[in-house]
Amino acid sequence: RTKSGGRHGYRFYEAEMDEIIEARRLLTADLRGALDRNEFLLHFQPLVDAKDSCTRGFEALLRWKHPTRGFVSPAEFIPLAEETGVIIPLGEWIIREACRIAATWPPRISIAVNLSPIQLRHSDVPAVVRTALGESGLDAGRLEIEITESVFLEATPATLVALTKLREMRLRLSLDDFGTGYSSLSYLRRASFDKIKIDQSFVRDLPCETSNLAIIRAIVDMATSLGMTIIAEGVETEAQRVCLLQQGCHQFQGYLFSKPLPAEEAAALIAAPPRRLLGRPHAA
Ligand code: C2E
Ligand code: MG
Ligand code: MG
Ligand code: MG
Repeated sequence: RTKSGGRHGYRFYEAEMDEIIEARRLLTADLRGALDRNEFLLHFQPLVDAKDSCTRGFEALLRWKHPTRGFVSPAEFIPLAEETGVIIPLGEWIIREACRIAATWPPRISIAVNLSPIQLRHSDVPAVVRTALGESGLDAGRLEIEITESVFLEATPATLVALTKLREMRLRLSLDDFGTGYSSLSYLRRASFDKIKIDQSFVRDLPCETSNLAIIRAIVDMATSLGMTIIAEGVETEAQRVCLLQQGCHQFQGYLFSKPLPAEEAAALIAAPPRRLLGRPHAA
């Protein structure tokens, strides 16, 4: 909004900006102490097999239980944590906590952890992972690391070295939000990703949006020929599931199967007999 444009004029704009800046300042101040106050926790969302809808693993998703504001969205506080450097100790806590909880699950169930590009650049992630695996007893083959394409925007040689080290430790690498950012096929190969997560923006308008369908088919063809697993995120409807299955996706994640769950509910879901989704309307 400029001085001449907008209904409220410049003064209002200034006051509004001050408010936003003040809110960010307060949230940042709270964020700095949140880890020590134990305000963070992880929720877990199932990653299911496309063929039988059985849970193959979970993605750990960070939650901040703010003392007065309640749950704050990671979309709101992760960028702040990155700007302030809080993501370094926080990121280490996430990896250790995710491994600790996943170690209580049956060995067939894997765990995926999101990694910030800042974390990858400014901390020794392989060392953090080694510690987390050691103290939890989790097998490295069960740990999957999710990174977004933005990691390659400012990739330093150290970034690729870290990713290579993680691969040598038998971790699996997963490229998150695929299709939304800068993607280089050569990076895909050099960092040897095991998995591609098709971003939910391509899934949202299925099955009506046929251009998305063409993009998904192209991604699946490419990734399959490189021997990678394809997972679609944000699967909310039965029609989307059927459509993505036809395109050859291997795994699904989304509210159709489950929202992210507290650790106890994730454990209960693993223990429960598999829900039969196929061929039946889904009951939420
Ligand atoms: P993401 O890694 O792409 O995670 C998927 C997001 O989609 C999650 O949002 C999840 O709750 C949401 N989602 C899952 N199924 C559906 C669905 O069917 N429909 C819709 N509309 N949404 C669905 P969430 O938990 O709010 O996390 C948002 C983003 O914050 C994540 O995107 C990730 O980039 C970041 N994030 C979350 N946890 C962590 C973490 O531990 N570390 C880092 N560095 N980033 C994290
Ligand atoms: Mg993710
Ligand atoms: Mg994603
Ligand atoms: Mg996403």
